[in-house]
Amino acid sequence: MERRDHGGWVEVICGPMFSGKSEELIRRMTRYKIARIPVQIFKPALDDRYATHEVVSHSALSVAAEPVGGSEALLQAVQERTEVVGVDEAQFFDDGLIEVVERLAGAGKRVIVAGLDQDYLGRPFEPIPSLMLRAEYVTKALAVCHRCGGAGMFTQRVIDSDELVVLGSEDSYEARCRRCYDPHEAEQPHLDL
Ligand code: ADP
Ligand code: MG
Ligand code: ZN
Repeated sequence: MERRDHGGWVEVICGPMFSGKSEELIRRMTRYKIARIPVQIFKPALDDRYATHEVVSHSALSVAAEPVGGSEALLQAVQERTEVVGVDEAQFFDDGLIEVVERLAGAGKRVIVAGLDQDYLGRPFEPIPSLMLRAEYVTKALAVCHRCGGAGMFTQRVIDSDELVVLGSEDSYEARCRRCYDPHEAEQPHLDL
């Protein structure tokens, strides 16, 4: 059998908001940095909530990151020498990210992708579900349900908006378990004329 460099693989870290996805991505990337393994961390340019050139967790951990406009820009920005590629908030990328991640893993790089697996209505939030199918390792993180302390698997939007993307944090979203989650909770009642 021909032996080549088979070092590439894909890791996905998914779950609702506040489940520690960014924390876990920061932990995994920091280990490589300490070992002086060349890493690059990317985030969507759209997500400018805390800092533009950092991934920041709700627990205030942070790591330097490069904002990119989309999957094509991410691919162009990856350097030859980079061994580990981290991506946060991957649900804000276009579906081209699936192909890009596979190309990077095929080229021998370890790719660690973090993001929401469900949107605020509980629907699959692409490209994360497709990336989970292609990943060697999947970690599904849970938050603490804001209502009852149970297994927080859902992202509850607590403001009234039907936009898919509403950037926000504690003011706009809560983690909820399957019993306390109600995707339509924040909707204003419609006038019955
Ligand atoms: P994610 O990237 O999944 O949104 P972060 O890594 O940014 O999550 O933040 C995780 C941290 O958020 C936890 O360690 C904790 O300090 C804090 N946190 C706030 N609300 C919750 C909650 N409801 N459940 C769990 N952790 C929470
Ligand atoms: Mg996060
Ligand atoms: Zn609950």
